[in-house]
Amino acid sequence: MLVSAAEMLKKAKAGHYAVGQFNINNLEWTKMVLQAAQENQSPVILGVSEGAGKYMTGFKTVAAMVAAMVEEMGITVPVALHLDHGSYEGAKKCIEAGFSSVMFDGSHYGIEENIQKTKEIIELAHGLGISVEAEVGSIGGEEDGVVGGGEVADPEECKQIADLGVDMLAAGIGNIHGVYPENWQGLNFDVLAKIQEKTGTMPLVLHGGTGIPDDMIKKAIDLGVSKINVNTECQLVFAAATREYIEAGKDQQGKGFDPRKLLAPGAAAIKEKVTEKMQLFGSVGKA
Ligand SMILES: [Zn+2]
Repeated sequence: MLVSAAEMLKKAKAGHYAVGQFNINNLEWTKMVLQAAQENQSPVILGVSEGAGKYMTGFKTVAAMVAAMVEEMGITVPVALHLDHGSYEGAKKCIEAGFSSVMFDGSHYGIEENIQKTKEIIELAHGLGISVEAEVGSIGGEEDGVVGGGEVADPEECKQIADLGVDMLAAGIGNIHGVYPENWQGLNFDVLAKIQEKTGTMPLVLHGGTGIPDDMIKKAIDLGVSKINVNTECQLVFAAATREYIEAGKDQQGKGFDPRKLLAPGAAAIKEKVTEKMQLFGSVGKA
């Protein structure tokens, strides 16, 4: 059964570890993340961007696939199905489609409009036991056409959004989506500490987990981050493993062209990467 992300994140915050959100794109991605979670006895959040939802033909398809996989695979660890960077309309659609968690990203609106719309989404979601993530201060880089300028969040605005009763809060602290550039300045821990001070027990979310050095990840968890989003990194290892298989000519040997064989090395690479992240985040054995 799918669960809201609220309880697993409360536990993570209290236990000083983080739960990984791993974005999914298709059946292989979902299956591998679920396998890794079950084998590591770790709670997990499956992230779905609006673009990935469209790619998989719609949120209803995604919700039905994930719910069926959890059952058919005998998954017993807590699994949340979460909309990543949702628009107002997208969040409403996911609430109807059977997601157990949604992010409403109102960071590109002014703070008043962000507050108003976040409030409306909370009312819709909480009535159904669905958790809500909000965002203050956009996150740098580009994700499925959403471009963020990498601004750093205002701790006072974070408090205003947190006070609405959101279950988790994404706040820009110099993190960006995609691969980090050579001249990246690193995470702004001073701002993170101030946000943590203002928001108390609110689980904080770190987007753009790909390429942040391990010691910075650990420090961010110490400072109150309880959810870390990983997307690009799984894409990179999937592509590399698939390339290696094809460049070695394995698709041309015997039945190597069988899609189940062709996609297997990439899928295995995702599972390995997810396991590595669960170990780093400290969520292994916390199911
Ligand atoms: Zn993000």
